[in-house]
Amino acid sequence: MLIIGSSNARVGLPLGMAILRRGGTALDAVEAAIRAVESNPDDHTVGLGGLPNVLGVVELDASIMDGATRSAGAVAGVKGIEHPISLARRVMQDLPHVLLVGEGAERFAAECGFETAELLTAEAREIYLRGLRGEENTPYAGAAARAMVHRLAMQPERASGKDAGTVNVLALDSRGEICAGVSTSGFAWKYPGRVGDSAVIGAGNYCDGRYGAAACTGRGELAIRGATARTVVLGLAQGLSPEEAGRDAFADLDLIPDAYFSNMNSVVLTPDGRHAGFSTVENQIYVGMDETSSEVQSWPRIFVRLSANAT
Ligand code: ASP
Repeated sequence: MLIIGSSNARVGLPLGMAILRRGGTALDAVEAAIRAVESNPDDHTVGLGGLPNVLGVVELDASIMDGATRSAGAVAGVKGIEHPISLARRVMQDLPHVLLVGEGAERFAAECGFETAELLTAEAREIYLRGLRGEENTPYAGAAARAMVHRLAMQPERASGKDAGTVNVLALDSRGEICAGVSTSGFAWKYPGRVGDSAVIGAGNYCDGRYGAAACTGRGELAIRGATARTVVLGLAQGLSPEEAGRDAFADLDLIPDAYFSNMNSVVLTPDGRHAGFSTVENQIYVGMDETSSEVQSWPRIFVRLSANAT
């Protein structure tokens, strides 16, 4: 039994591990862990307290994939729903679809009895406004955000990418089944309606019970163009180790020219419990617990320098 995730998954992993220890499914563990992150108002990259789009509206993307069946569910551009990961799961289980967006997803949430909530907290609103005033050092704030407001267009800009975030959780249960989940408010100051990799199966999330699971955070457009999560899992399918599969997928990403900043991070888990993390930013970690852990552990991510980021 094992549950791993991006560093901000820390608040949810004990919940997920408790489910696994009780003999629960990887699917339940992933959902529970991500729900805790979605409810954390201090995390400005996911759910409640997430940073909004350029018009000040929080729009959420999420997906979940079950390795046993490769069933998947996803929602994108959803407003006013605190737990898009649970909505993604309902899409997977109750509809003959994989991905619902915007109004349709919100309609389905209402049918499923999801409550609506104001997700823009006072703190997130303050950060958003500071960004519009150019006081936040972010790729999409300041001049770029103002340009979007006035011209509904975004200027290519390079930046460190430190402001981005999303939660990834991958779990392996006592039956040997694996599941992957991703939830995000996406890039702050994004164009309204912009969907990132977190909702795109194969890009930000992929899980195949035969080989393993991978999930991403970082520049979603890059993970979509590189089909990064799927690329990692295909590497595993070819017999590569998690380290080799991740390195290969990132080497492939390096071939994609990107006018924006090129931050990418992935976590990888195999059905036999091997795992690895990757980042294009130095000194990053991922976190996890196994059945013997009394607390959340952390491990360094393998640093992969993208040539676009070399100075
Ligand atoms: N991948 C997310 C997105 O593109 C953002 C992030 O992880 O930083 O929406």
